[in-house]
Amino acid sequence: MASLDEIPVTELKGVGNALAEKLARLGIESLQDLLFHLPHRYEDRTRIVPMGSLRVGDVAVVEGEVMKADLVMGRRRSLQVTLKDSSGFLVMRFFHFNAAQKNQLAEGSRVRCFGEVRPGRAGYEFYHPEYQVNPPPMPGDGQATLTPVYPLTEGIQQPRVRGLCQQALGYLQRHPIRDWLPLELLAEFQLPGITEAVQLVHSPPTNAPVHLLMEGRHPAQQRLVMEELLAHQLSMLQVRQQIQARQSLPLLPAGDLSERFLEELPFALTGAQRHVMSDIRQDLSQPLPMLRLVQGDVGSGKTVIAALAALQAISAGAQVALMAPTEILAEQHYQNFCSWFQPLGVRVAWLSGKVKGKVRKDTLGSVHSGAADVVIGTHALFQDDVLFHRLALVIVDEQHRFGVHQRLALREKGVGGTLAPHQLIMTATPIPRTLAMSAYADLDTSVIDELPPGRKPIETIVIPDSRRDDVIERVRSACDHGRQAYWVCTLIEESEALQCQAAEVTAQELTERLPGLKIGLVHGRLKSVEKAAVMEQFKQGELDLLVATTVIEVGVDVPNASLIIIENPERLGLAQLHQLRGRVGRGEQASFCVLMYHPPLSANGKARLQALRDSQDGFVIAEKDLEIRGPGEVLGTRQTGMMQFRLADFERDKGWIEPVREMAPGLMQQPQLVQALIRRWLGENTRYGDV
Ligand code: ADP
Ligand code: MG
Repeated sequence: MASLDEIPVTELKGVGNALAEKLARLGIESLQDLLFHLPHRYEDRTRIVPMGSLRVGDVAVVEGEVMKADLVMGRRRSLQVTLKDSSGFLVMRFFHFNAAQKNQLAEGSRVRCFGEVRPGRAGYEFYHPEYQVNPPPMPGDGQATLTPVYPLTEGIQQPRVRGLCQQALGYLQRHPIRDWLPLELLAEFQLPGITEAVQLVHSPPTNAPVHLLMEGRHPAQQRLVMEELLAHQLSMLQVRQQIQARQSLPLLPAGDLSERFLEELPFALTGAQRHVMSDIRQDLSQPLPMLRLVQGDVGSGKTVIAALAALQAISAGAQVALMAPTEILAEQHYQNFCSWFQPLGVRVAWLSGKVKGKVRKDTLGSVHSGAADVVIGTHALFQDDVLFHRLALVIVDEQHRFGVHQRLALREKGVGGTLAPHQLIMTATPIPRTLAMSAYADLDTSVIDELPPGRKPIETIVIPDSRRDDVIERVRSACDHGRQAYWVCTLIEESEALQCQAAEVTAQELTERLPGLKIGLVHGRLKSVEKAAVMEQFKQGELDLLVATTVIEVGVDVPNASLIIIENPERLGLAQLHQLRGRVGRGEQASFCVLMYHPPLSANGKARLQALRDSQDGFVIAEKDLEIRGPGEVLGTRQTGMMQFRLADFERDKGWIEPVREMAPGLMQQPQLVQALIRRWLGENTRYGDV
């Protein structure tokens, strides 16, 4: 018998080519695809609400008689239909309507409709509600069920999808869905079988507990949530398997490069740094590609770790690529590595998209011939024309902007194109444990859980921008005492141009108001040499104040800077603010971070700034950020679709993360199961778009 994923949706009544095409846009081709197009919420239409008791924002069913139906000529022409019941009135308003609709909704008709209450010019209104004229009687008590609401695409309406799903459910009896989860597992977690679960979520029975369903906590929903999380986990493990199907060059340290480097460092490694290095040393000496994530709070000293890993590869005669997400950061690494490595006789090259012409040709030549031991740069490092002589280690700093997809692509860049390079990924900020377990399931993790000694806490001050004058005074006073300061301009607009403009205006204002100070400006639209020059001046102490956009967010390290002003912090995520704040507190002096918000602050905004004021532990802040904004925002991968689930909700369902992680490796032994679940939940296209 045909299984559900072999039956095309065109089998269903009313599905012609046009509709099939639209469904395909939702990734729906077979009946199974359709049944896994799951309702993401429910509406409670089980009872009729008296119009007199409605409040703005209520989502409700009302029923009444049409008192009048008028064409209204306002800014936009609309059809305004006033309904009344024994308790009050309500207006249905349609901006798009046809003559038949207008006739149907004539005075005296009985109408039941469903919508969200909004304040309108004629009292409470429903805009474009779903409605029925001369409705059938409502189901009696205990007879009504919740109405599923589905994700849609343009040109398909809710009732249509609902109808199709109901039709498809009719096939389940003869074509049950294959349940891939072992029975013991279902028993252990007391979960229903797949067919039963799918049936229930599309068509909740009348006696199903409404509150559980509304919250997504019904066992049928949880069964699906668990399977979805498992499918994601398996797909990550599959990536790992695909990468580790290749061999890599075992990098056995030879000579004394690392020792000489450590001797020259003005400090000793922290215990945590030594710990992480021993994990990395161990990995690098294997003939299997390392896949390791190093997490550490801002300022925990990840750069030194990168340097030591690089030296192990170089001393084994291999090449290293170090990639950073921004030019500023890459440039800073380049300078650090040059000053650390050149005395050791290690050759460091620089490559970014802006390196052009002869310089580029020469650099590419030195990378290809092996004359360069380390090449540092931005994404440009992995363009097609960059060929390595003997690449054996790729270090990616500030992982957030680098997806699994790219990680997979790196396989091809190794020695001779057959050996995969080892991968060391370093995050900018800590990632909550649960999130790391799912989003980085393909990586082993090491945590630098200790800051270098002598760090002074940063005092964080939250004040309204009405006190801008005081803040400017504070900058003057700090700089008069020989300190340096950052002034960060933020704008919510995506437009980088606007951000830069805001920074320019602010720099000008501050230059006028702080005549004695030397003020620099850095933003994304400057040429890289200009950016580098300004950063260098600031680093050398030639500038007192650096006005910047969030381009300085990651990695920038100037220990003498002890004051940072962040304008409109309410517009940024917690992790980003923590990251920005981490630009100070790197030296000997007491440091300050001033969060200068624009009132009024929302309750949520207040809570977030308070969280930042009260904690300096990146792990604590990351947990809060996850709670408040969700995984996509925390990972910064919203656009790439990573961590976007159909049903699972990271916060609500985090209890599944640990069990799913534990069961996944065992299930990896069953390739058929792995393929089927990944296909069922993630579809044909991988979830990892290009960044
Ligand atoms: P991040 O983890 O944020 O990338 P960095 O690597 O930029 O941190 O290090 C922050 C600062 O701490 C740098 O100035 C670095 O030289 C210094 N540092 C790193 N490790 C130590 C250590 N063990 N002791 C003292 N200072 C250290
Ligand atoms: Mg760093």
